[in-house]
Amino acid sequence: MVTVQVQKLIDFVADVFSHAGSSAAEAKRIATYLTTANLTGHDSHGVIRVPVYVRWKNMGGVVPDQTVDLVVDTPSLAVVDGKFGYGQTVAPQAVKIGIEKCKATGLAAIALRNAGHIGRVGDWAEMAAAEGLVSIHFVNAAGSILVAPYGGVERRLSTAPYCVGIPREGQRPVVLDFATSIVAEGKVLVASRGGKKLPKGALIGPDGVLNEDPVTLYGPYTPEGARDHSQGRGAIRAFGEHKGSGLALICELLGGALTGTGATAPNRRFANGMFAIYVDPKRIDPANFFDGEISRYVSYFKDTKPVAGIDEVLIPGEPEARTRAERTANGVPLPDETWAAIVNTAREVGVSESAIQNASA
Ligand code: NAD
Repeated sequence: MVTVQVQKLIDFVADVFSHAGSSAAEAKRIATYLTTANLTGHDSHGVIRVPVYVRWKNMGGVVPDQTVDLVVDTPSLAVVDGKFGYGQTVAPQAVKIGIEKCKATGLAAIALRNAGHIGRVGDWAEMAAAEGLVSIHFVNAAGSILVAPYGGVERRLSTAPYCVGIPREGQRPVVLDFATSIVAEGKVLVASRGGKKLPKGALIGPDGVLNEDPVTLYGPYTPEGARDHSQGRGAIRAFGEHKGSGLALICELLGGALTGTGATAPNRRFANGMFAIYVDPKRIDPANFFDGEISRYVSYFKDTKPVAGIDEVLIPGEPEARTRAERTANGVPLPDETWAAIVNTAREVGVSESAIQNASA
């Protein structure tokens, strides 16, 4: 395990993307969002993605420095085409449009299509919450067929995340943000690179037998080599039995079909689609009952006797805030294999040996 200080990690990853064809501003933005995923404990959506992002860019799957097109533009509604730009560039552009429309009208819906990987969806809910807005995000990952629906053995869904952010005055927002699969694909990636193991029965083999071996998803792989989910014959399982599988379907239909990205299908180009609804709670509730009631209810919610083995009942967003505080102070831990794969990519794109040594020190 290596531990890299936050700023050092951001600077190094930004250096990689600068060498991979992005402007300095975009390179820093991608590096900052990926590092934030690690800071919040979502290593699956952090810097472990550097090799695959660069590979996608080299294959033309993602395009540096895109500016979104407004395909539909009404006072409360927009359809925004990300044109396969990096998600860390086009998603904040789409969210900004949502924030502006919502502030003007009280309610806005933004359909973002054809975005590169938008990473941790919680980033976008936090961006809206910082402006005092509630947001609801239905996301799919077209082209990334990984998940078996409830009752099925074969892959039909992406990991299709769902996210809700609720702002609070003077306190961090409530942010519920999860993949609708038992684990996000990135968690299989992390496990395959020597990180945290998968929960029991997270995967299902083509024979219908449950297991937790990343080979089920990727097929056989070498330690530092690429992970290609088209090589595996099994699937991740949808979470929450029929209910989670149903929510995943809704994410495919709203995040994929309604946005124009397309629901997940074989041989579709990778893109995230995100259908997001933004609500200004102050327009609904000018007397501001909402904020006090959130505080009252959150205290009531948390103040339950925990089950054996659990120290404390948490609300969504709390685990991320705690990990963020700890890692901001102590640095980001990365398994040796993850770090080696990032360094390999840095060398491939031409980052200097001295920069690599500096980051590794
Ligand atoms: P997860 O299983 O870790 O669940 C995270 C959610 O559960 C958070 O809201 C967190 O606050 C809450 N939580 C966790 N532990 C808790 C506890 N003990 N008590 C109360 N709440 C708790 O997340 P995941 O499904 O592995 O998803 C990880 C990330 O992957 C998310 O940020 C998601 O947006 C992202 N993702 C992105 C894509 C994409 O295509 N861009 C696809 C899938 C997932």
